Amino acid sequence: MRKKIVAGNWKMNTTVSEGVALAKAVAERAAGLGEGVSLIVAPPFTHLVSVAEVLKGTKIGLSAQNCADHTKGAYTGEVAVDMLKDAGCGWTILGHSERRQYYGETDEKLVEKVKLALEAGLGVILCVGENLDEREAGRHFDVVKAQTEAVLYNFSAEDMKKIVIAYEPVWAIGTGKTATAAQAEEIHACIRKVLAAKFGEELAEETTILYGGSCKPSNAKELFAEKDIDGGLIGGASLKADDFVAIAEAF
Ligand code: PEP
Repeated sequence: MRKKIVAGNWKMNTTVSEGVALAKAVAERAAGLGEGVSLIVAPPFTHLVSVAEVLKGTKIGLSAQNCADHTKGAYTGEVAVDMLKDAGCGWTILGHSERRQYYGETDEKLVEKVKLALEAGLGVILCVGENLDEREAGRHFDVVKAQTEAVLYNFSAEDMKKIVIAYEPVWAIGTGKTATAAQAEEIHACIRKVLAAKFGEELAEETTILYGGSCKPSNAKELFAEKDIDGGLIGGASLKADDFVAIAEAF
């Protein structure tokens, strides 16, 4: 049985004290959540140590939103995988569309980052997804397939056990426009085929694939009912503990 995960990407939101309060609220609200689904939160770098303290003794995972493509040294402004691990992270998000779009994150750089993250013992949530022009041109399957292959075909089946994929159509992120359950499902099924072609059916079946893009309590149930959707990467709705945990309760 593949793992069900609901991960919250806080992006560049909250002060440290607000983030600590949010993490406490999530932990309290999630105390009654069943075993079937795991929660992960991804605060900004500055919050990681404090949020790790709050999450001690809970089952909630801690993720960074990015990592450096080098291990240490003269890379001003960057944060290395060992630093993330030391701060208490078990995960890092990589390849979010905002990083691809605004910070020149390329597939080549992502290969390096995934490699370093895995070597440091971090799990990876790798984001893929087409933009609006690509969807309107009917290229969504090709774009997602190419992004998935360009990064993940550089890794082994063993590595894949530590990698979760998040399908996030860029046109649905922060826009209030959600992909329909059917639109999301057909891309998730396509990603699973891309994985099966390289790593075999069994690995493809075991890989967790999340949906992201304006997912909220009101639409989570319908999305998560699809057979290839194993949870969500949540932006806006992860900033409210009640909404975030309610999304996880949709399982
Ligand atoms: C995201 O950026 O990962 C995301 C899914 O954002 P939102 O839920 O706000 O659309």
